[in-house]
Amino acid sequence: MSIRRLTHDTVGKIAAGEVIERPAAAVKELVENSIDAGSRRIDVAIAGGGIDLLEVRDDGRGIEFDDLMLAIERHATSKIDSIDDLKALTTLGFRGEALASLAAVSDLRIQSVATGAQAGGLLRVNFGEPHPPRNTAWGGGTSIVARDLFANLPARRKFLRQPQTEANYVNRMVSAYALAYPEIAFSLEIDGKRLFATDGGGDPVGAAVAVWGPEVAGALLPLRVPDEMPEGFDISGIVSLPDVDRATRQQQFLFAQGRLITSRQLATAFEQAYHTLLMVGRHPIGCIQVRVPADLIDVNVHPTKAEVRFADERLVFALVQRATREAIIGHAPAPTIPTIVSSPLTDWTVQRRLSLAHPEWRSDGTTDTRPAPIAAIEHELPASDVAGRKLPVLRVLGQIASMFIIAEGPDGMYLIDQHAAHERILFEALMPGFELRSTDKQLMLHPVQVTLTPREWETFLNCRDELAAVGFDIEEFGGSTVLIRAVPVVLKIRDAAKVLQMMLDEMSQGGRGTSRLESLAISAACHTSIRAGQALSLLEMRELVSQLEACSSPLACGHGRPTMLRMTAEELEKQFSRR
Ligand code: ADP
Ligand code: MG
Repeated sequence: MSIRRLTHDTVGKIAAGEVIERPAAAVKELVENSIDAGSRRIDVAIAGGGIDLLEVRDDGRGIEFDDLMLAIERHATSKIDSIDDLKALTTLGFRGEALASLAAVSDLRIQSVATGAQAGGLLRVNFGEPHPPRNTAWGGGTSIVARDLFANLPARRKFLRQPQTEANYVNRMVSAYALAYPEIAFSLEIDGKRLFATDGGGDPVGAAVAVWGPEVAGALLPLRVPDEMPEGFDISGIVSLPDVDRATRQQQFLFAQGRLITSRQLATAFEQAYHTLLMVGRHPIGCIQVRVPADLIDVNVHPTKAEVRFADERLVFALVQRATREAIIGHAPAPTIPTIVSSPLTDWTVQRRLSLAHPEWRSDGTTDTRPAPIAAIEHELPASDVAGRKLPVLRVLGQIASMFIIAEGPDGMYLIDQHAAHERILFEALMPGFELRSTDKQLMLHPVQVTLTPREWETFLNCRDELAAVGFDIEEFGGSTVLIRAVPVVLKIRDAAKVLQMMLDEMSQGGRGTSRLESLAISAACHTSIRAGQALSLLEMRELVSQLEACSSPLACGHGRPTMLRMTAEELEKQFSRR
């Protein structure tokens, strides 16, 4: 076969597929164009998942009539002149490809009037075939409507998901930009139904409540800029308190230089900030904006600009993690304890949020005579954060259902889950030694012999070194039988065989921590802590509570379950109709 040049039309269609891979990608390009045009208001509407129709309408500076044909030409842009301009890019677009691509794969209609122009212009492009532009009456700004996306590319269209799914992608995209640009009023309509609208007032929390719904109100925190911020770097955005979580990462948005990007590293940095505060499998929500000096980022590595390259990825990673962590730890009132409200049940979420945001409940004024909190596992935190108390001094009153400890604090009643609390205490006691690989161990009076299942045995072989490093002396005894000779002293293990098997079982499922050592600590803490159903003496309960007070993250166990609930005195009064 001889080599032939592809026709202009074919090249266009191939390229179009790269930039506009689905309706959400088209919406993203159009929204970015509207932002670049200085719009204060951007309205998005789609029908049939955006495949049948998608429209982005703005009140920006518009397109000159004479530029309409240029706007849909490939590599035609008003935003840069030469490659050098990329270094100081102030716009989101620069490739001049989006409109050309969309015009090649849809029935496109651009209506626009440039600021100061007498009349508006209308340009229709039918799957790459432009009609001559016409003058038209048009109020202001620009509207771009694309119908029948990919109707001329059946293979592409086949790749699209159900309209409902495509609509979700569009929703996610517009949500992201609405969160990141609170100074622009965004609205989204799907099949004639208004999903959300932000007011453009510039308040990120206001925008977030509009996008995420009133249930998150009071549980959102503006990001804290880390103290030593390198020159030219900036970080902003909003993140959720650990008590708001979702089953997926869909509502986590990362922006670099104002553009939505995907970055597994940065997403990890964000989630690590919630480490041990969220349940396994649950994810925080947030929108984080990173800006770095223009010469330390390459935005031109991906056709839809979805990926970027940072010159110093690790620095950006550390900044995101620190900013998030400081926001959650720093803003959360001490004690950050969800208030319980027994009834009416319908109110409880809202009240819980409010109580978290309420400054009045900061527990100052308690005299600190307790031991300093164990700081070691929070090593990424500045010292000031871990030195402060996380819990007030509590007075133990008794036990309920052999499961919960009831206590009084300066600001109300506390119910403490004895198992979760003990798990947290053991976890924090284990981690420093685990990390230094110098755990105090205790020799068993009689070595315990255990025969492992094949799976346990395999896991044992895998993490034998870590087990040894953290104080489990385990000797192979032929076949899949082992002898446990010593265990970490903090664990006060009664049933070493069972604990070992449970730990191996959890490890074989991947463990629950971010490292193997941490998984071991979580697992060991869980399986050696006081059970629910165990009656405790007042002395034991006091001891437990005072150890919990000394923890650096006393509010959740290693698995992220809460260790306690609180009901304020005001709340009690309200429940008894005294207020
Ligand atoms: P790029 O954004 O990379 O410049 P596009 O193909 O997205 O390329 O857009 C081409 C040109 O059309 C832009 O440079 C801009 O001048 C103009 N344009 C597109 N959308 C709008 C809009 N909503 N308002 C004003 N001008 C627009
Ligand atoms: Mg563009």
